[in-house]
Amino acid sequence: MTERFEVALNMPAGRLTTVIDVPTGFIPINAIVPVTRRLGEEAAELEVQHAIEAGLAISCRKGCAACCRMLVPLSVPEAFALRECVEQLPADRRTLLLNRLSETKDRLKHEGLWERLTDVAEASSPVPDEELDPINRAYYALRIPCPYLDNELCSIYEIRPAACRELLVTSPAELCQDLVQNPVIPLPVSMRVSSVMALVWGTLTSSPPRLIPLPMALEWAERHEEEARMTWPGSSLLDQVLDKMWRFLSQEFTNRGWTVGKEPEKEKL
Ligand code: SF4
Repeated sequence: MTERFEVALNMPAGRLTTVIDVPTGFIPINAIVPVTRRLGEEAAELEVQHAIEAGLAISCRKGCAACCRMLVPLSVPEAFALRECVEQLPADRRTLLLNRLSETKDRLKHEGLWERLTDVAEASSPVPDEELDPINRAYYALRIPCPYLDNELCSIYEIRPAACRELLVTSPAELCQDLVQNPVIPLPVSMRVSSVMALVWGTLTSSPPRLIPLPMALEWAERHEEEARMTWPGSSLLDQVLDKMWRFLSQEFTNRGWTVGKEPEKEKL
């Protein structure tokens, strides 16, 4: 059984109106991930349309995975959802993936980065950007292909993290070979969905808004599997998502020097 809602959100690039189905009963947090990511993608699509109307073009194409050498942050709900999906992969694909993750872990340990990433994943308070930036740069300097990358294509495309969906560029694709040194122009992101879900999880569990580095997300989810079994009413999880999205959007409107618009609207159909 599901409940159907029409949701409307004022985004910097226009008004987003969409229909969402949410289970009526109690659901685990990973069940809200697809809906939340879809809202993020629809918000990104508004930004894409806005850019096209302004005469810009998106350079990102299938088969270009230059940005898949960056450190990807996942929220806890996404880590739980990823683990569930990986467990359902055919045995040969799962083995291949787990081997790649193991190789990546060995490399990161060798480079002295695994411990630093573990500290980020298990931090008991929010990790400030000043601490995260050097870790992100050190990771990117290694140019390690994402363990989920297969012949320059994402092997988990349908369930890839929100952060992967949000990086689109309007500068020439060649510049993405060095995202630090080159003048890459990313499309504005009005709403970072991984941060939204991290805030939701933080509120639900009275914990810091945690972001987990992708290479260790499966291990983290396994260590915390009891938390993955906790449940909440589906409608109240949607309320949490909309509330955190609104906080994010309010900040984005303020950053752009615009008047903060109306709060999200949610109507039962
Ligand atoms: S999860 Fe997929 S899209 Fe994201 S960095 Fe890895 S290969 Fe690239």
